Amino acid sequence: MQPDHDTLIVGAGFSGIGSAILLDKAGLGDYLIVEAGDGPGGTWYWNTYPGIAVDIPSFSYQFSFEQSADWSRTYAPGRELRAYAEHCVDKYGVRSRIRFGTKVLGAAFDEAHDLWRVQLDSGDEVTARFLINASGVLTIPKLPDIDGVDSFAGITMHTARWDHGQDLTGKRVAIVGTGASAVQVIPEIAPIVASLTVFQRTPIWCFPKADLPISRTARWAMRVPGGKSVQRLVSQAYVELTFPLAAHYFTVNPMARKMSDVGKAYLRKQVDDPVVRAKLTPRYAVGCKRPGFHNTYLSTFNRDNVALVTDPIEKVTGSGVVTTDGRSHDVDVLILATGFKVMDTDSVPTYPVSGVGGQSLARFWDENRLQAYEGVSVPGFPNMFTVFGPYGYVGSSYFALIEAQGHHIVRCLDRARRRGATRVEVTREANDRFFASMLRKRHRQIFWQDSCKLANSYYFDKNGDVPLRPASTVEAYWSSRRFPLDDYMFV
Ligand SMILES: Cc1cc2nc3c(=O)[nH]c(=O)nc-3n(C[C@H](O)[C@H](O)[C@H](O)COP(=O)(O)OP(=O)(O)OC[C@H]3O[C@@H](n4cnc5c(N)ncnc54)[C@H](O)[C@@H]3O)c2cc1C
Repeated sequence: MQPDHDTLIVGAGFSGIGSAILLDKAGLGDYLIVEAGDGPGGTWYWNTYPGIAVDIPSFSYQFSFEQSADWSRTYAPGRELRAYAEHCVDKYGVRSRIRFGTKVLGAAFDEAHDLWRVQLDSGDEVTARFLINASGVLTIPKLPDIDGVDSFAGITMHTARWDHGQDLTGKRVAIVGTGASAVQVIPEIAPIVASLTVFQRTPIWCFPKADLPISRTARWAMRVPGGKSVQRLVSQAYVELTFPLAAHYFTVNPMARKMSDVGKAYLRKQVDDPVVRAKLTPRYAVGCKRPGFHNTYLSTFNRDNVALVTDPIEKVTGSGVVTTDGRSHDVDVLILATGFKVMDTDSVPTYPVSGVGGQSLARFWDENRLQAYEGVSVPGFPNMFTVFGPYGYVGSSYFALIEAQGHHIVRCLDRARRRGATRVEVTREANDRFFASMLRKRHRQIFWQDSCKLANSYYFDKNGDVPLRPASTVEAYWSSRRFPLDDYMFV
């Protein structure tokens, strides 16, 4: 039986787009991308809240083979990332092979025919020899587990589904959560609302950001031959030093220990009221949790119309938020900056997957802990590859991850083509070896400090594992080009 396509890619975020481009470059262009949204860009399509921008310099947050000289700032706003996604799907001829507005409901491996049967919400079934899961990790908005949150009579919105039809001017607004999205939204809306009440469970370390408009001279320099590459090299070195090297080599490179002092000094400089400052000071070490980068987040708490509430929320009522001290905070708008379901077995992937013998991927991970060979493949799930699987991401720019994982996948598919193989499956031994090496190396990471228990960090899964790859970007890049293809069975 011939499948409808060689490859089906789930998701047209940058992982899906990047995988598609790499498949085309390798001459493996018979693919279909299925995307729930009506446009490409994933994160940058869905998240449009005021103030959204990258916190990795734009020179690094882009494909190495498609470097833009048009970013308006060193940290581009979200709309430019979305435009960049549109540009990439058009320039590389990917758009016509994306089926927008269609959700994958489930995928099952058909062992008799060595292909995936993928169910769509349109009622169709699509078959493909190979399945690339690019459904993202920060994809499914997480609603807070607060009593009565559905009973609020005013406007409720999650940051990941911002309702631009609502004008917040002059309104009494509450925001629940102080994670990375809240850090960007709060300074943006505080000047226009009547009052902003921020409900904080765990404070975030916030650092200044060298967020500058890109000058004409810099833009010109990027257009001269080699200019963009130099800029990227400098930016990559900065990202590498401050993210993967600081996090994964913490015991040998304790640079991050100094960061708590830097963070506290910044807080002292930015926040006038010592009581508010104390509330905003994290009790956990820098690195346990994703920090924020913003030049006006902390100083926003100096405003008269902004209140920081740290008493736990008891419930939400029709008129607002009630805290455990019995106070009722009446508001017109409730903003949920409560993040995403991350690394939950029912959120990665975002749809049920069943492999050999009908085994569920969620169940495999539930019983065996999150694991994937090189962050890409799981034994028992042939012909399936994930761009952002457990232990794939080192913590630098996602684009480095996408390109490394994409190369891994292309190497497998290329060998399958050359051998006429219809079934490609990572061996259990290779997967066990890789997982053991991840666990062996993790002791040097930043996440195992005692105070991380206080961080409420989404880095930790329910087993207390942090499924980030304890490696540098260079190591991950090198592995994707050098892992032994004999770690896979080609049948
Ligand atoms: C607010 C926010 C800010 C961020 N800022 C940064 C940053 O500064 N730097 C950084 O490195 N990373 C950042 N990230 C992480 C960001 O998610 C990644 O950088 C990158 O965009 C992930 O790309 P992706 O394609 O893997 O996933 P996504 O961008 O999440 O794309 C996944 C796509 O799959 C689609 N999809 C999911 N399930 C299905 C299904 N069942 N059927 C059909 N389609 C489906 C979704 O609709 C989505 O379009 C941020 C994330 C968020 C949410």
